[in-house]
Amino acid sequence: MQKYFIYLGFTYGLLSCNLFSKNDEAAFTTLLVDYQSNESDSVNRLENQVLAPDTLELRLISLGLIDVQSINPHIIVDLKYSTEDNFMKTHVYGSLNRAYLQQKPAEMLSRAQEFLSDRDSNLYLLVYDAVRPVWVQWKMWNLLDSIPVSKRVNFVSNPKNKSVHNYGAAVDLTICDAAGNPLDMGAGFDDPRPIAYPSKEAHFLSTGLLTQEQVNNRKLLREVMKKAGFRNLDTEWWHFNAMSRYEAKKMYQPVP
Ligand SMILES: [Zn+2]
Repeated sequence: MQKYFIYLGFTYGLLSCNLFSKNDEAAFTTLLVDYQSNESDSVNRLENQVLAPDTLELRLISLGLIDVQSINPHIIVDLKYSTEDNFMKTHVYGSLNRAYLQQKPAEMLSRAQEFLSDRDSNLYLLVYDAVRPVWVQWKMWNLLDSIPVSKRVNFVSNPKNKSVHNYGAAVDLTICDAAGNPLDMGAGFDDPRPIAYPSKEAHFLSTGLLTQEQVNNRKLLREVMKKAGFRNLDTEWWHFNAMSRYEAKKMYQPVP
């Protein structure tokens, strides 16, 4: 409970001294345009500006996004794109280390954690990614420009089409124990191989490449997330949408 108030206090502190300026907003808009044209010099210059400590986080708060741990402090967050432990081996989120979603998806995630705690009080949702600004989607897309577009979509969705992450209505996550150890899902986060596809679990179970325990762990994640109203993808065991892309587009603006 004490942790809960610390988070609330911190969020209130950030809200009450919202220093996000019009210049920063203009920098984000320019950055987005430059990412689309992939001009690396100006991208690097502007990226340094928008990734100054707390700038990205203040921006998410000013757009009305919610820190999921401020709603449910049992949720654990380890943003993989704030480390080099991701498929690009590149840090793309600056100092951001909290997961932000729109209000409704954040409340749904909190309910999923409650369902999980009811099943086993020693298990926690471990969030790898939540809202993802469109400029980050472009950065990911451009970092992989050695891969043909037809294959690149296996790693990251095409920024032209927008991802539900861009609207703050999708989350990538797993389940971990009280010590923070992720459950074995039989394939890592962002593994593009078919072994990560929920649609192929029965096949890989029958060939022995997935164990029953690995499949059960995935089923538990899907069970609590679906009970809270999320929908899973057939090709990524870790990805859940709070709503369709069409619904997200009607309800929210993409975070530029
Ligand atoms: Zn995802």
